[in-house]
Amino acid sequence: MNKKRITIVVPCYNEQETIEIYYNEVIKYLNDDYDFNVVFVNDGSKDNSLEIMKSLAEKDKRIKYLSFSRNFGKEAAMYAGLEAAKRMNSDAAVIMDVDLQDPPYLLPDLIKAHEEGYNLIFTRQKNRHGGSKLSAFFSLSFYKVYAFVTKDKGMAQGARDYCLLDKRAVDAFLSIKDHERFTKGIYHFVGFKQKIIEFDYQKRSAGTSKWNFKKLFLYAILGMREFSRFYEYIPKVIAWLVFFLLCFDTGKGIYNAVQAGSYAAFDWNPIRLDALFLALFIVLFYLFRLLYDVRKQTQRRPIYIEEESNIEVLDESE
Ligand code: UDP
Ligand code: MG
Repeated sequence: MNKKRITIVVPCYNEQETIEIYYNEVIKYLNDDYDFNVVFVNDGSKDNSLEIMKSLAEKDKRIKYLSFSRNFGKEAAMYAGLEAAKRMNSDAAVIMDVDLQDPPYLLPDLIKAHEEGYNLIFTRQKNRHGGSKLSAFFSLSFYKVYAFVTKDKGMAQGARDYCLLDKRAVDAFLSIKDHERFTKGIYHFVGFKQKIIEFDYQKRSAGTSKWNFKKLFLYAILGMREFSRFYEYIPKVIAWLVFFLLCFDTGKGIYNAVQAGSYAAFDWNPIRLDALFLALFIVLFYLFRLLYDVRKQTQRRPIYIEEESNIEVLDESE
């Protein structure tokens, strides 16, 4: 019987210090039970990353590489790597960072869960060391706000991109053609049987993180924008606030008029202003909703992703 093929996808951006360290570590877990391959995706590195990948590929046939014309970002690198895994007819694909923050020692656990029938297996850091208190605060706030606006309670804090996708999950993932990709949201969208595996925080093996606060902040906003009606909430909340202000000003006007015993004491000015703002924010709300619908349509995300069916696929030649 043929062995199952498992392809490990490794996005790399300026990682000349870490690639060889990674290689020496990961090969310890590539046993003969499976047909393993490692695809390094060179995301437009400006250092010697590509040369290192090439020399590894020369001495080890399991090593493949795929190089971008420029830096497209980790999300694009993951997409390209999974596409390569599909092209290689892999039974499962694992996405792993090259800096050993995604520990290769979890590989057997990921594969075991895959053999148990899970389609998507995630990993999550149990505890956070390093990093400032401020970044820990922002991270926690992001997960809370994200869970609130997207209703995705499944994305646990500390969840990494390190995961295993079986063939079906890879196909579903690739069927989502969003240009601005927020992979964690995509996993939630994809569904199927998912499992989470926890591990202890790992330090980067060498080199420095490719993320900074601005990049992470914009990424957080992207996630909420792509997987929620985030933008609609803003005019909606303001419209409600203005509505309460309108009620308050009307009440105040009536109170003043009653106190003075004269209709002339009723002040229309704040009411006119409130009404104007209310109308404006209601219009904005509907406009944002319309924009949301247009975006959803132009993104061409699949309407659904099938898990099972007893409908037979008819051969078109019949
Ligand atoms: N990475 C990439 N393209 C980028 C930025 C990062 O392919 O534009 C890769 C990087 O080489 C590493 C992984 O994504 O393998 C995670 O990056 P990093 O360690 O800098 O992020 P952190 O662990 O700090 O979140
Ligand atoms: Mg890292």
